[in-house]
Amino acid sequence: MVESRSPKPLMWVRFLLPPHMTNETLIEQLIKDGYLKTQLIIDAFSAVDRAHFVPEDQKQFAYKNYPLPIGFGQTISQPLTVAFMLELLQPQPGEKILDIGSGSGWQTALLAYCVGAEGKVIGVERIPELKKFAEENTASLETIPQGVIKFFEGDGSKGFEEEAPFDKIIAAAAATSIPAAWKEQLKVGGKIVAPVNESIHVLERKSQDEFEEKRHFGFSFVPLIGGKQGDI
Ligand code: SAH
Repeated sequence: MVESRSPKPLMWVRFLLPPHMTNETLIEQLIKDGYLKTQLIIDAFSAVDRAHFVPEDQKQFAYKNYPLPIGFGQTISQPLTVAFMLELLQPQPGEKILDIGSGSGWQTALLAYCVGAEGKVIGVERIPELKKFAEENTASLETIPQGVIKFFEGDGSKGFEEEAPFDKIIAAAAATSIPAAWKEQLKVGGKIVAPVNESIHVLERKSQDEFEEKRHFGFSFVPLIGGKQGDI
């Protein structure tokens, strides 16, 4: 009898490849890297699976920490950017939040989980096909309260006057400055988290006329298209 001395190649392949990515491994990584901290937002990431929001041919990459194409030249945001921005926004149960550039609806759904059945999330998207895509993706998701999200097609650089004022406003496309309309449509005590060029700006409305601003650098976003913008 000849004794086999083969080094079990499959074991080596397993050792060399990164572990299988799942929504749980993505969340663990975001916590380990310091992007996810707040329990409500961590729970939202568990309840709202990114794979549900990407086209069929992208599902295998859904838990990778990079943006993915969703058609029409647009992308679903990078998980670490969404985590970082939601941690800055701190969405709370019962709040009314405006989500500008709702794309696939992933971030809109995360917000809906956080604001809960008593809250409201308005998603504004300029590409009609994506507005429909987000509507379908969120309507078929059983882990978020239904009826909390409303999507509208339009130019989000004007905010969304019909539903104003908002407790919070978040944008996924980069403006060259924060549009004046967003500031006008924000409640006193409210907060805007939005990309401006390659950085993320946080604006807190301290009183009718006073805004406090902080900036976080080193991100990249698709541009906010159209609209005349403000002067911040
Ligand atoms: N959070 C979304 C991000 C999509 S990318 C997701 O993860 O799927 C940003 C989106 O902003 C794109 O869908 C783009 O069409 C949209 N957008 C760009 N400018 C806009 C504007 N002025 N008004 C509304 N949506 C806009």
